[in-house]
Amino acid sequence: MNITLNNGIVMPAIGLGVFQTPPEVTTDAVATAVATGYRHIDTAAAYANEREVGEGIRRSGVDRSEIFIETKVWISDYGYEQTLHAFEKSVAKLGVDYLDMLILHQPLSTAFDKTIAAYQALEQLLTEGRVRAIGVSNFMPNHVEALREQTQVVPAVNQIELHPYFSQPEVQKANKDLGILTQAWSPIGGITSYRGDHARSTFNDPAILAIAGEHGKSAAQVMLRWQLQLGHSVIPKSIRPDRIAENFDVFGFELSPEQMSVLASLDKGVRGGPDPDSITLEAFGRDIPEA
Ligand code: NDP
Repeated sequence: MNITLNNGIVMPAIGLGVFQTPPEVTTDAVATAVATGYRHIDTAAAYANEREVGEGIRRSGVDRSEIFIETKVWISDYGYEQTLHAFEKSVAKLGVDYLDMLILHQPLSTAFDKTIAAYQALEQLLTEGRVRAIGVSNFMPNHVEALREQTQVVPAVNQIELHPYFSQPEVQKANKDLGILTQAWSPIGGITSYRGDHARSTFNDPAILAIAGEHGKSAAQVMLRWQLQLGHSVIPKSIRPDRIAENFDVFGFELSPEQMSVLASLDKGVRGGPDPDSITLEAFGRDIPEA
């Protein structure tokens, strides 16, 4: 299933996420995903596994041009020249000469001028054809508005935390109103059990499991199907071949409007990740190595 972005570029709706995928298993996870049928990988400079993502794509035997490669610029590389250089670091590590999607990983509220300059560098890369689409991540509507006041290109995506326990309906709406695609991170609520707290995990939610039972599907498949029916892109992460396959097998069934409403009603309004306004260079800055 493909989604056409606001600049006409076509992106596969499902991508493999690789946050917290250790470099030593990333190549296998990516090659397995491509063999399964995935044609989109979501990584980031800050994940320290771009090199292995590139290796996995090469090992898959599928031509690079058929894979949608998305990566992110970390805040320590914000600023016009710094972000142009961050692009060079990422493509060199990935072993490619262009990117399909390059996004800003976080808004930097305390140094928004640097965020603007970083985005202007993305616009320049877009003009030069080095990237096919550009976007943002973790931008709340006020950040998008501030960005729009000083830049030209409407972001193609806004990648935000989005699962049944934190579905940010107001951010979904703000994105939609501007023609920005909502891309869900932690789309199956992985963040609700990162720390092994399975009692609070979306995977064990009785309402989700009940819907899963009605379709003979897993909780993960129901959550992904919900997002796809909402028109979102999803980037579930797994290092296990069985789950990589399960998360891609979400097309043979359809959730009813009632089931969609049940999933929307599970929102607790409490984010699992950090508040985007708490992201500062002092607290989260770290050096992204040269290629
Ligand atoms: P996900 O919602 O994708 O969940 C991943 C977790 O669930 C892992 O622990 C995985 O374990 C497990 N899992 C995967 N598939 C299944 C399944 N079918 N059944 C049961 N458990 C499963 O969470 P993430 O936080 O990893 O988010 C996905 C991607 O989003 C990231 O990899 C990254 O690309 C992106 N992201 C972006 C952020 C941003 O700030 N822009 C922040 C966080 C994530 P295992 O690997 O062992 O299968």
